[in-house]
Amino acid sequence: MKKHVSIYILIDALGWNYIKARPFLDNIAKTRQKVKSVFGYSSGVIPSIVTGKYPFLHKHWSLFFYSPLNSPFRWQKKFSFIPNRWFNTRAGRKIVEEISKKLMGYKGYFETYLIPVEYLSLFDISEKKNIYKPGGIREGKSIFDVWAENKINYSCLSYPMQDNEIWAEALKNIEKKETGVYFIYLADLDAFLHRYCKDSQMVNEKISWYEKEILKLYNKACEFFSNVDLYVFSDHGMAPVYKSYDLKSEINDLKLKIPEDYVVIYDSTMARFWFFKSSAKEKILELLKTKSYGRILSEKEKKDFGINFENNQYGEVIFLMETGSVINPSFMGSTAPSGMHGFDINDETMDAAFISNTNINSNPVDVKDFFKIMSP
Ligand SMILES: [Zn+2]
Repeated sequence: MKKHVSIYILIDALGWNYIKARPFLDNIAKTRQKVKSVFGYSSGVIPSIVTGKYPFLHKHWSLFFYSPLNSPFRWQKKFSFIPNRWFNTRAGRKIVEEISKKLMGYKGYFETYLIPVEYLSLFDISEKKNIYKPGGIREGKSIFDVWAENKINYSCLSYPMQDNEIWAEALKNIEKKETGVYFIYLADLDAFLHRYCKDSQMVNEKISWYEKEILKLYNKACEFFSNVDLYVFSDHGMAPVYKSYDLKSEINDLKLKIPEDYVVIYDSTMARFWFFKSSAKEKILELLKTKSYGRILSEKEKKDFGINFENNQYGEVIFLMETGSVINPSFMGSTAPSGMHGFDINDETMDAAFISNTNINSNPVDVKDFFKIMSP
């Protein structure tokens, strides 16, 4: 019988709020606690989990950032004679995405959401490689590099497999006893909570399903290994959304020019601006300051959040919505979701969760410290 297996299960959006008042792995858990998230979306938080560093160091944060010289969409400028309204259809967008992917040599999944196609050539994307493989992080090493360097035989199961396929694969895999470390990333709960987070019965049923699947895998592991360390953690929570605001139209009404005056990306909980004329900056700041549903992040906040990027890579001015309010329509969608994350991490709805059948010596300060727990 092989001795030891470590199983790390990352469940996207399993917020502490959803499990704190209900049983969840109680029979096996020795550690069960909330953990502060890292500010941003999963595209920034998960790189922090797998590197142990804040976004300003590994350079992953939101999916898109201003970088016209490196934009994978810059080829498209040659086709500016084609009317924008043609590109901005579902089919036109799909073609642009496929050509850009080919040119980048990118094999993973990416989409351009609702970013106006005529602006795409202004932006680069943060995730050009698979972050769940060695060499997948823009700057520095991830846990996958560390495991590979230490010749640790690990198995990583993640997207694009669906969660039910991943569970089935993991069960099959663990019987072979070839691998001593498992990293399992489950993405489906995030999409589910974006839609149904206000329906506590549906949420509870879904979480019970995850609990059941975890226990199935844990019990199977105990059959084949004499020592099983199980770690279940998440990247962030989810806040119910009650209000939405059309900030985009108000900024458009200022009649400033993109890209001559400024460039903007409307994520659903943030608007990120780059300015090229001081008069444009003044006008936009003046408007943002009148909005009680959000605030401009101070330099100190950017530093505290670990998003003080060199050259303001992800935005010179970041306007953050208050928790529970979203920008709608945004570049990410045109229907306000029922739940959202990417709000201030000091709000308890953003707290992630951590459960283990082991005792942890050092408490994680925030989710980036899961890296230390996974390190050999
Ligand atoms: Zn999400």
